[in-house]
Order: sequence, then structure tokens, then C-alpha cells
Amino acid sequence: MTRQFKSYIDGQWVAGSDGADDENPADLAAPVGSYGVLDAAQVAQAVDAAAAALPAWSLSSPQQRADILDRAGSEILARKEELGRLLAMEEGKTLPESIGEAARAGQIFKFFAGEALRIPGEKLASTRPGVDVEITREPVGVVGIIAPWNFPLAIPAWKIAPALAYGNTVVFKPAEIVPGCAWAIADILERAGVPAGVFNLVLGAGRTVGAALVGHGRLDALTFTGSVPTGRALLRQAAERGLKIQMEMGGKNPLVVLADADLDQAVECAVNGAYFSTGQRCTASSRLIVENAVYDEFAARMQARLAKLTVGDPLQAGVDIGPVASAAQLDTDLSYIGIGRDEGAELLFGGERVECATQGHFLAPTLFAARPEHRIAREEIFGPVAALIRADDYEHALALANDTEFGLCAGICTTSLRHATHFKRHAQAGMVMVNLPTAGVDPHVPFGGRKASSYGPREQGRHAVEFYTTVKTAYTAA
Ligand code: NAD
Repeated sequence: MTRQFKSYIDGQWVAGSDGADDENPADLAAPVGSYGVLDAAQVAQAVDAAAAALPAWSLSSPQQRADILDRAGSEILARKEELGRLLAMEEGKTLPESIGEAARAGQIFKFFAGEALRIPGEKLASTRPGVDVEITREPVGVVGIIAPWNFPLAIPAWKIAPALAYGNTVVFKPAEIVPGCAWAIADILERAGVPAGVFNLVLGAGRTVGAALVGHGRLDALTFTGSVPTGRALLRQAAERGLKIQMEMGGKNPLVVLADADLDQAVECAVNGAYFSTGQRCTASSRLIVENAVYDEFAARMQARLAKLTVGDPLQAGVDIGPVASAAQLDTDLSYIGIGRDEGAELLFGGERVECATQGHFLAPTLFAARPEHRIAREEIFGPVAALIRADDYEHALALANDTEFGLCAGICTTSLRHATHFKRHAQAGMVMVNLPTAGVDPHVPFGGRKASSYGPREQGRHAVEFYTTVKTAYTAA
């Protein structure tokens, strides 16, 4: 056992109790560390501390907030290799992907350091003579942050950084299986100079610690990223309580490949989008919708490309796909592979666990030839499993792409300007990619979806101001 990760409440490190292992999904015999979980009373202390810190922090100088966020961003960037290594060991994505995520988290802190100095406002002429109207933005208050495990540095960064930049205080609950990354963020924020109570970290299960956070009467707003069922349950609670809420949830993202596409490029987009990060991305291309004329060739090229991918220890050079993040997620993946077979989808590649030098949750990249009605083509699996679906032509492909409850990201590979332009306009998704993988976005522009994938204002970029501030309209007569 190497490290013990603690919670952080009101400027103090809190050990918690009932310690749990922080598993290494690539090597179950060598956990990353352990962590203690909090009880409901300790979660309440964290929210109370955030509430007590709010008046001073909400009126703090934007320069102070900018400096703190900038220091945090600089430290993350300077330590991106080390933080990436922790991420790779804890969550299982490959080291280059993990270092890339750490760098992105650092850039996000730096972006919002700048935004703290650019909080927008407006001054308008009133309809009444002699009256001025000012529209200003104020912090929304105490913000609860509930995050998933699949981007354990970047997602917390894109919630914590804007929350603090706009003068809110925070209680952050990460997913159970990534306490180390969450601890690292808290450790860096403490060193960056965040005052006691402004940022709090509460470790533990969703059912207990998450529920205690959402149920605390002093919370003003809740930002959640995770699965649709959890998000829907939290939405009901938030509605009863009148909480401001922002939710990013699941996806079943289509990548359309038209007959006029550059097929080499399309295969790379599909492999990256469907299988990198072990397919555990909300923006993963889990539906590959291919025009009939190139379907067989595309399928053959995919099989050949998948055969060249290496599954294994994410820390090892040359590994393309790390382990599935947890035993529970592996069970889900394997159960969907079984469902695919039972429903008559044709297994084109993978479908089985991979033996490696260490005991871990390794799974082969898996490709099915599926029909649109198959469950593997409709439900989010959140693993390295993709469904290849045949389309008659562009119009059919677009209809298939939109035939889903989700609406996070949609991609198309085509050399036709007409089809690319039409797709950008008519894809029912919050984000559209042309000749790019559906996963992989810039940190300075809005991120989010439609339909069951998202609820509330967008995250990231300047649009983050919508969730993390509330608008005030002030009238002044001379
Ligand atoms: P999850 O819904 O199981 O858990 C998400 C978080 O909610 C965790 O921190 C968990 O502990 C907490 N939680 C669970 N039950 C709770 C409760 N009753 N009260 C309060 N908190 C509770 O999701 P996950 O397995 O961690 O993440 C995978 C999901 O996240 C996938 O569906 C994926 O698509 C989605 N995701 C979406 C985006 C996006 O931006 N749209 C990004 C990443 C992941």
C-alpha cells in the first residue's frame, strides 16, 4: 500500500473511516493506495464550511482568484507527467492520453484564471429618462460538484476552475475509483493559496457522500457529470429543492462514414473515437454508420486495424488501449457483448478478455456488425465495444445517426461539402465533428449535448459563466 488519500474540509485534511483500496485496473495485486470515506456529518461540515467562506470569497478581488487559478494551472502543467502517471495507474488510460489530460486540466485552470478578470456585464439606456440600467453577474453561491471517473483530472478542472473564478465556493465529490486524482487537485489548490472553506473535497460513495451533498440545504447549485440514471435521479431532487443544476450525461455517438470519405482517415477517426481511452468517453463513437457502397471495405479495414492495436499496461510504451477502469464496468462490457451475440449481431472482432503479464481488467477492442434496433446499437455501454451499422445513403445515415435518445456528439467522414454542411445543421447533437473523431474537444469552447445527454447550460469556455453566475439587473436614478 503506497499512499493514503484524504478528504479536505475547511482547510484541513480529513482521513475518514472504512478505508477502501484505490485499485489499479491494470494490476489488481498492486493498488495505487487507499482512501477513507466520509460520513454524512462530515459532508455537512464541508458544505457548512463552503457556505461560511462564501461571503468573503464572493467579494474577493478577481486578481486574487486569477492568481490562485494561474498558480494551480502552472503546477499542473509542470507536473503533468507525474499526474498523468497517477491517472494512468488509477483509471487505466494510456500514459500519453493521461499526460494529455493532465495538461488539459492545467490549461483549463489557466483559461479560467483569465476569465476571472473578464467577468462580463452590460450597461444599457433605460426606457425611462434619467435612469441607468446595469446588468451584472454575481456568483451563484455554494456549488456541489459530482464527477465521473473517466476524466478524473479534466472534468473536475472544468467544473472547479470556473466555479472559483466567478467567486463561488465548492464541495467536490469525485467518483469512488479515482480518489488519487481528486486528492492531487485538492493538494495543488491548497498550495496555490485557496482560502480555507473555499474548496472542499469529500471522498466516498455516491449513495452516501453524494447523497449527503445533494441533500444539504445550504447548497445553491449542483453540477453533475455521469450516467443518465444517476443524473435523472439528481434532477428530481434538485427540482424539489430549487437548486440550479447542470448535467452532462451519457452518449451513443454516431460516426457516419460516406462512400466519398477518405477511408484511411475514416478508419483512424473510428478507431480513435471508439476505442481509445478504452472506449470510456461520453463522446466515444460507439455507432459506426457506414454507407453501403463502402461498408464491406470499411469493415475489412477496421478488422485489420484493430488487429494491430495492443491492449495492456497503460504505463508501457506501445500500448494503445489500457484496461477497463473497474470490475463493474468490465462486467457491463462483457454482458453487452453477450447481449450482442444473443440478439444476432455478428462479432467482427474481439469480444473476449485479454491476458497480460499482470492480472487486470483487460478487454479486446470489440466490433459488431449490428442492426439499428440491437441493444448494443442503442444503449450506452461505455467500453471498447462499437456497432457497425449499414446505411443505404446519406439521408438514411443521417436518420440513423439521429435515431437515439442521446445527443452529445455526432461525426461524419466525407469529402462532400454539401453533405458536411447539411450534417452540421441537421445532426441532433450538441457537438459535431467533420473528418475528426467524435471524441477530442478543445478546452476553450462550449462542451455539451442535447436530448438525454445534457441538461442545463453548457460547460467550458466563456459559456461556463451561465451556470456559475446569476444575473442582476440594477436601475439607478441620478
Ligand atoms: P455514475 O452516474 O455512476 O456516477 C457519477 C458520479 O455520481 C459519481 O461520483 C458517483 O459517485 C455519483 N453518484 C452516484 N449515485 C449518486 C447519488 N445517489 N447521489 C449523488 N451522487 C451519486 O457515472 P460514472 O460511471 O462515474 O461515469 C460514467 C458515465 O458518465 C457515462 O454514462 C458517461 O457517458 C458519463 N459521462 C458524461 C460526460 C459528459 O460530459 N456528457 C463526460 C464523462 C462521462
